This record gives sequence, structure tokens and C-alpha cells, in this order.
Amino acid sequence: MNKQLSHRVQSIKPSPTLAIAARAKALRAAGQDVIGLGAGEPDFDTPDPIRQAAIAAINDGFTKYTEVDGTPELKAAVIRKLQRDNRLEYTPEQILVSCGGKHSFFNLTQALLNPGDEVIIPAPYWVSYPDMVLLAEGKPVIVAANIEAGFKITPEQLAAAITIKTRLVVINSPSNPTGVTYSHAELKALGAVLAAHPDIIIASDDIYEPILWNDEPFANIFTLYPSLVKRGVVLNGVSKAYSMTGWRIGYAGGPEWLIKAMKKIQSQSTSNPTSISQVAAQAALDGDQSCIQTMVIAFKERHDYVVERLNNIRGLTCLPSQGAFYSFLNATQAIRNLGLSDDIAFCEHLITRAGVALVPGSAFGAPGYARLSFATSLATLSEALDRIERACA
Ligand code: GLU
Repeated sequence: MNKQLSHRVQSIKPSPTLAIAARAKALRAAGQDVIGLGAGEPDFDTPDPIRQAAIAAINDGFTKYTEVDGTPELKAAVIRKLQRDNRLEYTPEQILVSCGGKHSFFNLTQALLNPGDEVIIPAPYWVSYPDMVLLAEGKPVIVAANIEAGFKITPEQLAAAITIKTRLVVINSPSNPTGVTYSHAELKALGAVLAAHPDIIIASDDIYEPILWNDEPFANIFTLYPSLVKRGVVLNGVSKAYSMTGWRIGYAGGPEWLIKAMKKIQSQSTSNPTSISQVAAQAALDGDQSCIQTMVIAFKERHDYVVERLNNIRGLTCLPSQGAFYSFLNATQAIRNLGLSDDIAFCEHLITRAGVALVPGSAFGAPGYARLSFATSLATLSEALDRIERACA
């Protein structure tokens, strides 16, 4: 039998974040004592009014296909959210609801990129951006920002990375995996570089928007640099804000020609996102927002605890961050101290010797680092950090 696979699938790897989370789960199921700090998902329950809205949707028989691009009611809620929180105005034709923020970015790359088109991705990056660009036969152009640069690229670096083939630039703030946030001034400075290149599309992945404890409120590059809106795509969703990862609802707002093309891709793949989840997402966006603040207070407390502990462990350093629920630790010294080859061996050491699962930094384009998700209780974090401390001693 000919088992030849497509060159597209051979150009990518399985999602490392999901792979680590699955491995920790499997080890636990096999009876091993493993603390999983790999998965990037809030540990809170989806708030009750959201769950009740979904139950009512099932009982009301709202279980059939919906419009491919989302129900008019949910799209209206998305429009209200973007107006309320981001001061951005959209028509329904400019909104596409998809099966998670990940799917929104996938649709964007599939609709926009031609072979060889370059996509500028600042590193450390979320694991799936480069592989989704490769699936669309584009070329990821990685611009590295190390810990000394606060994990943020400069306008000079962005300008130097732009070529005649640049089609898309990705901005993600607060960032997965670092949790760092670009200041308004920094985003405006990046905007000024992009303003000089009118054919480049800009994607702002705002999925961590509400999980923020910065002095400055959230603002994306389009709110701060309005002339970029006409070629900007806002990517967001309900997964992180309302602890709804499993419901799979993300959305994109952008120029009509591009959203229409993304909708066409979606119409030939998933069709509509789950009808019940759409009702739940509408309840989340239109409902009481205080559930977000409860989570943010907990994440900030855990952040402070984790950063303090990590910086006191031999061979590890970690920057404080302003949002999301990750610490991205520099383990280069610990890797040397332990005589290990790299961050992959370091994370292997931690999972096998200490029973703690982290995601290796190389998965995010930052060898020598590791991502720790603090979306778990303080008691679990305390135990995990004790174990990491012993494993680094
Ligand atoms: N975005 C989350 C993470 O980074 C979820 C898993 C994924 O799709 O990568 O862990």
C-alpha cells in the first residue's frame, strides 16, 4: 500500500502544547504522580450563567446547523464587545465566528497566503503560528526577542524583517508563552513601521486580552493606530476570558474581502461552530463580566508566587509578566549545571525525575527556556516548585 502523505502534513509537527498536556494526563492515568503545568487553559469552571444558557439551548432544540459564519445574535454580541472594549466598529460582514481562536488564525492563513508569502512572527511565539503558516505554504520569518529585550521585538527589528514578500505580521500581547505585554507606546512604534507598508496585513491575536494586571489598560495596535484598521484582523475568543477552552468559540474581525474568503474556507471545512457553544459564547460576551476579574486576581497572586519562587531556584531566572497565565523561565544555567543537552532534555528530566510537566522553550522558538502554566491552585504550584527546586539542586 502506498502510504505517501502530503508534503503539507510532513512539513509540520503535532502541537507540542497539546502533546505535553496529553502525556501528563496519560502518565497520571497510568498511576504516576505527575503535575501537569503544560496545558494553557484556565482551571476555573465555565461560569454558571454561561453553562445554563447552553443547557437551555439544548432543551430548546437549538441543535441544528447555523449560519457558517456564526449566528446573527452572536455576531452582534461580538460587534458590541469590539466596540465596548476596543473602540473598533464592524459590520456583520466583517465578523467570522470559528471553532476557537486557533481556527480563526488557521482560516486567515489559508485564505490569505500564497506559496512563498512571508509571515513575520516575533519569538517567543505561540507554537501553532509557524506550523499553520507552513500548512498554507507560506514562509514563517521568525524575529527573536530574548529575555534581555523583555521578550519584545523593536521597531528596528520589525523594519529589518520586512521584505517585498511580507504578507502578514502577527502580534500577540499579552503573549503566550511569556505573558509580557507591549506598552501602548511600543505598539504605536510598531504601527508606525507598518504604516509605511500598505500591502501588509496585520493580525492581532488578543486572546489573552482580559487576563492582564498591567498599569496600562489593554489596547491593541488598531485602537492605538487607527489607520491600520482597514488591513487589520483582530483575533479573539471566549476560551481564556471565560474559561471556555473546550467549547471552541473564537472570532475574527477584519476587512470584508478577507473575512469573506476566510468564511469560504470555513464553509468547506467545519461549517458553523457548534450551535450550543455559540449560545454560550453570546451569554458570555453579553453577560456579567465580573467572573473575569475573579480569575485575574487569582492569576496575579499565582504569578507573583511563581516568579518569586523560580528566581530563587538554582540555575533558573524568570521575568515578571503583565498578563496571561504563563511564566517563561530561562533554564540555560540549570541545563548546564545538570549536564543536560538542551531544554527538551531539561523538561524530560523534570517530568521523569520530578513529576512536573513543562513545555520546552524550543517549541516556542526559544531554546534554553521552558513554559510553566500557572493555571492551577497555589497548593499544586507550591508542590510543583518544590519538586523543580529539588530537580535543579
Ligand atoms: N493555547 C493553549 C496553549 O498554548 C492551548 C493549547 C494549544 O492549542 O496550543 O497551551
